[in-house]
Amino acid sequence: HADALAAAREALHATFGFSAFRGVQQDVVARVLAGRSTLAVMPTGAGKSLTYQLPAVMLPGTCVVVSPLIALMHDQLRAATANGIRAATLTSADADREQTIDRFRAGELDLLYVAPERASQPHFRELLTRAPISLFAIDEAHCVSEWGHDFRPDYRLLRPLLDSFGHVPRLALTATADRHTRADILAQLGIPEEGLIVAGFDRPNIRYAIRPRDNAMRQLKALLDEQPGPGIIYAPTRARVEQLAEALGAGGRRVLPYHAGLSPETRARNQAAFVASEDMVMVATVAFGMGIDKPDVRFVAHAGIPKSIEAYYQETGRAGRDGDPSVAVMFWGADDFARARQRLGEVEEHRRNAERARLDALATLVETAECRRAILLRHFGENPLATCGNCDNCLEPVGVLDVTRLAQKLLSA
Ligand code: ADP
Ligand code: MG
Repeated sequence: HADALAAAREALHATFGFSAFRGVQQDVVARVLAGRSTLAVMPTGAGKSLTYQLPAVMLPGTCVVVSPLIALMHDQLRAATANGIRAATLTSADADREQTIDRFRAGELDLLYVAPERASQPHFRELLTRAPISLFAIDEAHCVSEWGHDFRPDYRLLRPLLDSFGHVPRLALTATADRHTRADILAQLGIPEEGLIVAGFDRPNIRYAIRPRDNAMRQLKALLDEQPGPGIIYAPTRARVEQLAEALGAGGRRVLPYHAGLSPETRARNQAAFVASEDMVMVATVAFGMGIDKPDVRFVAHAGIPKSIEAYYQETGRAGRDGDPSVAVMFWGADDFARARQRLGEVEEHRRNAERARLDALATLVETAECRRAILLRHFGENPLATCGNCDNCLEPVGVLDVTRLAQKLLSA
């Protein structure tokens, strides 16, 4: 065991150039190297990729990585290849599939990335019998659960594949899963309960604020006036993104839009501009942010409610990865919740209870007079202090805020 860890530390340095493991990485890697299936729940930016990439380099055979989005896979591939790891993706977007299959069969791959719909095909199972497999890594594992915030039915089809290679350990990874979802992931993927490893969720450098929306444009302009540094504003629809980007851009700051309706070139250009910038603002739908590793984002604003507490945590978590003070502000309206409740009617019945519970949890976070961070961390199963000193409710207790607001209203009337 000690030998394995020493070897892991050496590989950590040799392959990634890192001097130490961060947080629970070491526990996860140690379990995987011992061949024990694991579910690691680690916040965004905590370094989940390393927990399968490092064993992939150390163990003989190929680590098969299941990942839900081609764009995410290609980001991972670039990063892994840059570290000298022998990696490939097997997706419909890859012209070199034949070559990848040859490399796999020749035992020349440390990592093979596939989408769940391909992984569950008999063809793929057949392929995996052609060369030794070291590990199955299932990224974004909450997708396997109907209780999760992003259920993808294809993830359900993975189980037969995993079971037909029963001797190969499984490593499931997710940033956001409440207790219910965790239990479900363990059951769905056949990972023992003792295999659960949960990292701390607190992001102490993020200051949370959740405010009623009265005039979104005025509130966002005020935010841009007082907040320096790069920032992201999430808006609910493409039309709203366009509208906000244009109006806010008139204020002098560089503001660009990002949503799935823009051409791939425009999206790539706007994203590159944002990543390189020190004060640009991106107005975006939630299509923006996954796989972007920009450490100095100083604020994330929500112009409407996010889908769930999990989504809120993930989206606000894009602020302040460098550890410097950052801000997360949500502007919510009662109409957001009314619309979301209306949409519950359209959800398939077997998912409706989970969706309703998610919406109720979000409403609690929004309406509370308690510490926002305490509510968030409790949602993820932690036992936080009652006050954090770095959220709106801790910094400006409700009474005071109401008086100030009233005074402002009276002055501007
Ligand atoms: P996640 O998937 O959990 O969101 P990533 O795997 O993308 O996180 O890693 C986030 C960042 O942290 C990456 O830039 C990665 O290189 C860096 N990182 C990971 N592990 C370490 C470590 N032990 N020391 C320093 N940096 C690390
Ligand atoms: Mg990741």
